[in-house]
Amino acid sequence: MPLVSEMELKSNKTSLENSYKEACGDKDFVSLVKSLELDSKSAMKMTSKLQETLEEKSHCKNCKGTFMCKNSYNGHVLIPTKKENRIYFTYMPCKYEQQILEKTRQNERKVRMKDIDTKDKKQLSVIKWMDSFYEEYDLTKNSKGLYLHGSFGSGKTYLLSALLNELEFNKNVSIEIVYFPEVLRSIKEDFDTFGYKMQRFMHVDILLLDDIGAEKVTEWGRDEVLGTILQTRMEQNKTTFFTSNLTIKELENNLALANNSVDKVKARRIIERIKQLTMDMELISENRRD
Ligand code: ADP
Ligand code: MG
Repeated sequence: MPLVSEMELKSNKTSLENSYKEACGDKDFVSLVKSLELDSKSAMKMTSKLQETLEEKSHCKNCKGTFMCKNSYNGHVLIPTKKENRIYFTYMPCKYEQQILEKTRQNERKVRMKDIDTKDKKQLSVIKWMDSFYEEYDLTKNSKGLYLHGSFGSGKTYLLSALLNELEFNKNVSIEIVYFPEVLRSIKEDFDTFGYKMQRFMHVDILLLDDIGAEKVTEWGRDEVLGTILQTRMEQNKTTFFTSNLTIKELENNLALANNSVDKVKARRIIERIKQLTMDMELISENRRD
């Protein structure tokens, strides 16, 4: 017996058609479909998702800051983009969130181990791990980094930045702290420096890939950028750190883009590399971002 009866399929189709027709009464919807160069058949399939992007965009219009964000992922807005004839829906940091990120990054570039306060007991095991890593770190040895995952604002980026800055300052280690979603954007925008940046990410002594999984990557971002960086670092025994809001398992799902078997294998391959490069640690604590 078929799982879905023919009648059900038909009625699904009519309801899709109806919502599409209804949506076309909205001129913003029509111009969005036009700007994405969608034919009506493909547009119909993603009517509700497209409407969602318009709704999020309209929330942003009168917004004064992330404290009053109405979107489903705070400080972010869902946008549709077209790449190689496929439509991707991505949560991008809004203009306010971008300012916060930029400010945090500037501060964190300078943060040192002595700046870390130890009042949050939930951070203690990470700090302890970092202390002994700092003492023992030696370029000639294969030292694993951390896959530090956990809640938003719990101090993941702050703590690891302090460790890396300290190593750079006192032990002459070359470091790179990169906000991963931004890297993919900047690389795409500026192909001239792509090779140079890739070399740096592959060969720097210690790399921190910050906030991996915060945005859905494209196939290219996953396989050509992330995959290549991790493969090289693995072969050369280079220490690599990650922070993420996702557990490794959740990251694996996030990386299996189309969720078919080929994609799943590719996601798995990335995850295997991350596991080889790191120790898994969790940091769940209160949100300290103001
Ligand atoms: P996450 O990366 O986990 O989302 P952050 O590392 O950005 O969170 O932490 C949020 C903010 O909390 C940081 O910008 C920093 O100001 C503050 N913070 C977190 N932990 C500490 C600490 N141990 N000492 C001082 N400030 C901290
Ligand atoms: Mg962070």
